[in-house]
Amino acid sequence: MDMSILENVFQRIEGYRDEIIQFQAELTSRTALGPENGGTGEHDKAKYLMEKLEVLNPDFLEEIRAPDERATDGYRPNLVARWHGEEAGPTIWALSHMDIVPPGDLTLWEGDPYKIKVEDDRITGRGVLDDQAGIVSSYLAFEAVRALGLKPKRPVGLVFVADEETGSKFGLDYVLERRGDLFDPKDLIYVPDAGNAEGTMIEVAEKSMLWLKFTVTGKQCHGSTPGKGRNSLYGAARLIVALEKLKEEFGLVDMLFSPPMSTFEPTKMEANVPNINTIPGRDVFYVDCRILPQYKVDDILQDAKSRADEVAAELGLSILVEPVYRQDAINPTAADAPVVRALSRAIKCVKGVEATPMGIGGGTVAAFFRKAGLPAAVWMTMPDTAHQPNEYCLISNIIEDAKIFACLFLDEYGIG
Ligand SMILES: [Zn+2]
Repeated sequence: MDMSILENVFQRIEGYRDEIIQFQAELTSRTALGPENGGTGEHDKAKYLMEKLEVLNPDFLEEIRAPDERATDGYRPNLVARWHGEEAGPTIWALSHMDIVPPGDLTLWEGDPYKIKVEDDRITGRGVLDDQAGIVSSYLAFEAVRALGLKPKRPVGLVFVADEETGSKFGLDYVLERRGDLFDPKDLIYVPDAGNAEGTMIEVAEKSMLWLKFTVTGKQCHGSTPGKGRNSLYGAARLIVALEKLKEEFGLVDMLFSPPMSTFEPTKMEANVPNINTIPGRDVFYVDCRILPQYKVDDILQDAKSRADEVAAELGLSILVEPVYRQDAINPTAADAPVVRALSRAIKCVKGVEATPMGIGGGTVAAFFRKAGLPAAVWMTMPDTAHQPNEYCLISNIIEDAKIFACLFLDEYGIG
């Protein structure tokens, strides 16, 4: 492609400050909270975005409704828009999520979380970063391409999903289950929903997540007569120490990940007895495991259970081990996959820096793509303010990310 064309696109995007502020104001005022977060769904935001997409005349536009009787009109909206390219495929996709997390303690906010505040380069408001920065940068990138009358070589798709913050059951998980045919393993799928302040981190792999609940049952008795009971707190304490051995047993190091090893951390401990002179008969604690994909989650579960059995037998207690959440990491996106290489080149062109493919501790929506055998890269340039009071994004980050999306949509550097 002629470099001057790309320069024109960049120039147009650089003039989008007012558009970005306006877009963010509209999105932020349309609260999109899932029922688990005390809301009724993403409908207002989806309706607004549907209109924005229609302006760009997509060749394909569909609202995929995930049934959810707790939500407005009994469903959660997911939007998919696609435009033809000069050639048939693969499609270059950008997927962002519409839902937000609640603002939390309002006294920690300097203003109304649903009314944006603009100071120089900074826009503050709930959702402006997570994930409206992704919505705005990908949308405006394609808007600039269209406004200049350019036709991309490949098809381009924009996806806005529901329910990312509470598990994606009514979001991407549902979209892939119902309309998995929209995506092809050769497609380039970008998820602007996590990254670092420099915009150099490309997330390609995740650890498996396993949250375990341990219920230790003994026999409660008076503090002065331990012989009459069985102290469950001893069982919990011994088991917590015994579980540290998981770190050695599953001690593989993989430098793709940060941190580079599996982690097994005791976290929540439920309250047991309310007074000091009672020996507890029941203790419940939890361990958050983030497991390198080289290991099978079942093997960790088995190991934890046998350690629990040992402690239980030794102390005459019973210990129940239950997984309360589990997401197996499979099919990490290869660090040299076309989706990663094209993005690295676009980042280099716009920012002049080298990006690094990395693995993280799990929990992004890209895991659903990977599970379905679809390579995906998670990336965006962002301050670390997601889910926090006074969440903010930087207009300059959105402009740069939009330029990078424009490079990708125009397939400026070729696929792969
Ligand atoms: Zn997010």
